[in-house]
Amino acid sequence: MTQIITIKLKLYKPTHEKEKMYQLMTDRVTAFANKYISLEKKDRPKTSRQAKAYSEPLPSAVLTQAIRDINAKKDPKHFKRLWCNFNNQNFKVEKENGNWKVSFPTLEKRIGVPIETSERQNDYLEKLVNGEVKQGTAMLVKRRGKWYIHLSIEISIEEKPKGREKIIGIDLGLINILVAETEGQTLFFSGGRLAYIRRHFKSLRSRLMKAKAYKKLKESEDREHRIVTDINHKISRAVIDFAKEQGITKIRMEDLTGARWEMKQKKKQRQDNGKSLQSWSFYQLQEFIEYKAILAGIEVEYVNKDNTSMICSVCGHKFTSRPKGRMFKCPFCGSIRHIDANAARNIAKAISGIAS
Ligand SMILES: [Zn+2]
Repeated sequence: MTQIITIKLKLYKPTHEKEKMYQLMTDRVTAFANKYISLEKKDRPKTSRQAKAYSEPLPSAVLTQAIRDINAKKDPKHFKRLWCNFNNQNFKVEKENGNWKVSFPTLEKRIGVPIETSERQNDYLEKLVNGEVKQGTAMLVKRRGKWYIHLSIEISIEEKPKGREKIIGIDLGLINILVAETEGQTLFFSGGRLAYIRRHFKSLRSRLMKAKAYKKLKESEDREHRIVTDINHKISRAVIDFAKEQGITKIRMEDLTGARWEMKQKKKQRQDNGKSLQSWSFYQLQEFIEYKAILAGIEVEYVNKDNTSMICSVCGHKFTSRPKGRMFKCPFCGSIRHIDANAARNIAKAISGIAS
């Protein structure tokens, strides 16, 4: 099974001359595309050499790929814009002194340009240069005045032999950001540091608001976002390492899109004056776990969260209210477990059903 994803890599501070050249290439390939479709099918160029007669100068690789891209479209009438596209033989990703750069043919020559990447993109690019995922086409695209490379990547997901399924359940919360559980093995991440960060930025924000220091306010929000993103990357990496160590085939997480969750968030947001860190940070954490899991060949499934903290994960006894304290003592089977580990176990077992 394979999955194709597109990562959007921003070119790092291209010079004005480079930007003009990218625009010129785009204009020329668009003009070529319109010329190409205006010709009778039998008269259309088949090779880049033939194509050159119908185009302002462009690299052969761009013309060859343009012909492929045009023919992949179903009976196009007019191209408002056709972006330059490079196949995997003409586009290269490299790491130089810890920095990523890409190279591709242009009007001048083949050029290497630095790119800006997120940690998530770094993960994909590492896999790409290690040959663990396949490179597809790379498109030179302008979005809101900035130039990007849209790089497609093909990930093959190993089909695991049936019957050897091992599932890990993941519970998210405030006291413990994340608890992962599989067959009695648990992994805890305390929410202490995140709670501290949250309090710190909240009081900073209210001070800046009072002082009407809006620029500083925006900066502090960005900084908070970066810190939380960094924490989420660390946690999700540790979860995947743990899952790989344990031979996990499937990760089950609670479905945060559920109506119940949204209702709880809305209430929370009102209390929080519209600034709920927890909501987006949990979504982001799940998103990071999900893409890292896919890269590691682990399946991800979402389950309904209802009652996961009110049922004994050992005997299945259902309590009428959430247990008090941090430990879950079951009067029926006598088992004692941490409440979050108990909830994570129930998520692993999908006691509330798989979310659709
Ligand atoms: Zn029990």
